Amino acid sequence: MTGLDLLTFGEALVSLRAAGPLAAGGALTMHLAGAEANVAIGLARLGHRTAWAGRVSEDELGGYVLRELRAEGVGVDHVTRDPERPAGLMFLERRTADLTRVRYHRAGSAGSALSVEDLRPALAAGAHVLHLTGITPALSDSAREATRWAAETASRSGALVCLDVNHRARLWTRDAARAVLTPLAGYASVVVASEDELELVGEPGADEPAVVAALLDRGVETVLVTLGADGARAYTRDGVREAAALPVTAVDTVGAGDAFTAGYLSGHLDGLDLAGRLRRAVTLGAFAVAGHGDWEALPRRDELSLLDDL
Ligand code: ADP
Repeated sequence: MTGLDLLTFGEALVSLRAAGPLAAGGALTMHLAGAEANVAIGLARLGHRTAWAGRVSEDELGGYVLRELRAEGVGVDHVTRDPERPAGLMFLERRTADLTRVRYHRAGSAGSALSVEDLRPALAAGAHVLHLTGITPALSDSAREATRWAAETASRSGALVCLDVNHRARLWTRDAARAVLTPLAGYASVVVASEDELELVGEPGADEPAVVAALLDRGVETVLVTLGADGARAYTRDGVREAAALPVTAVDTVGAGDAFTAGYLSGHLDGLDLAGRLRRAVTLGAFAVAGHGDWEALPRRDELSLLDDL
């Protein structure tokens, strides 16, 4: 293992957001989107040496993705440019106070064609933490194999593997997700899931205690269950610990789970104990929901203490 604190990979999307109803002429703005990119930016903003790997189109949109990641301090040395496939796109329209994701164009995109060969150089460079989501293996057969290979390679090399279940019902069914994610969790030290997602890394229909017990039995060290405005629960072999969410006014909850994971992993990289890691996780989650955007509201290190009095 060398210089990197964290490596993550997946599909980064170009998101076009309408600030108001499109029919009423809402202006479109362009943003970088993607759960793994959110996590990478969360860590880079806190000063961790972070890289994102994946496949992006060779056109201007792919260039935009790379520029945005670089501008946020995320390393992109091992990103593959794909001359044949287009960028993955996402359109969002703000209809009311909530953002409504209206449309994705990601089938056949450069990002969805991710393969083992794309990830090999990044994995060879080494990182203390490998972060992966349950979104990437849903993209294609090659992305599924790349995810499994990366998890196995990193866990063999002694890296901490973190699996964010992140179920996307648009991409695959719960049964299809479970069949891939349950074995994948066997490579992980940390598993993050919402209450509803937890069953996707266990037996069909199993309740939370049963899924957690099976994961801990298989060598997972920490299972984090996120509970939105109710905070989170963390299970380890020592038992369960609750973390309250910080009392902020939520204006945009997109990216809260990614922020939470970034905070937890930042705490791990800083050597914090479980209570400290959870505190940082709920703090980043609070920043994410209290501001607009998927990652734009995430704090720099000197802003972390802003919420300390809450
Ligand atoms: P996901 O985005 O994956 O569904 P959650 O909604 O559970 O994840 O949010 C992740 C974390 O973000 C929560 O554990 C909590 O710490 C924080 N969070 C989410 N919603 C709120 C909220 N309304 N107020 C404060 N913190 C929140």
